Amino acid sequence: MIEQLEMLLELQKIDSNIDEEEKEKRELPTKVEKIAKEVKELQNQLESRKKISKELLLKLSRKELDLSEKSNKIKKHQEDLYGGKISDIKELKQLQGVINSYQEEKKMVEDELLELMEEVEKNNKLIDQLEEDLKRREEYLGEAQQEITSSISKIEEKINFYYNKRGEILKQINDSHLLAEYKSLRRGKNGKAVIEVNSSICTGCYLDLPSDIVYQLKKGEILVTCPNCSRILVWRE
Ligand SMILES: [Zn+2]
Repeated sequence: MIEQLEMLLELQKIDSNIDEEEKEKRELPTKVEKIAKEVKELQNQLESRKKISKELLLKLSRKELDLSEKSNKIKKHQEDLYGGKISDIKELKQLQGVINSYQEEKKMVEDELLELMEEVEKNNKLIDQLEEDLKRREEYLGEAQQEITSSISKIEEKINFYYNKRGEILKQINDSHLLAEYKSLRRGKNGKAVIEVNSSICTGCYLDLPSDIVYQLKKGEILVTCPNCSRILVWRE
């Protein structure tokens, strides 16, 4: 029995190693997923900034057109004013009034145009910054993907190694009932089916083991399990 239990302990060690490696392998892609999400977010931001840029340029060209229309009108009225064709003072005064109001409007459009240009410049700076950030993040994503691919293949190598070792150990466990018990316990007991005990306390559940159980455990002739947590016990001096 002792030898079989030793093998079972060895098997449990290997199984725990496999579980750990499998867990690491499962968790590795989450890092890449996080970076990929950041890249997507930057792409979305850039896209909306470019949309804003398009709208601003459209507004800008409309304002420029407005400005040139106003300038043309002023020019035309000024030609009328100074052309000498109109001699009526009242009419000339009226014309000057029209020119003045156009000039006021023109000044307003010019101010708006300046504001728009500032906005365009600010937006362009943001686009440059976003493009730079995106480029760096994409590079980082590529590196992380490569790193993870190589990490995964290293982990798979380790897992293969452990499975080979596991096969060797299984060959030496001929008690199929014991093995089945181990497997079902391992599932239910968080990977700890067999535990080493060196006193009357069960290290799995901290039960103070009855003296007849400790006696059987020390003798090592039959399979002894904890009456509380059902784990397989192995005596260690
Ligand atoms: Zn126990």
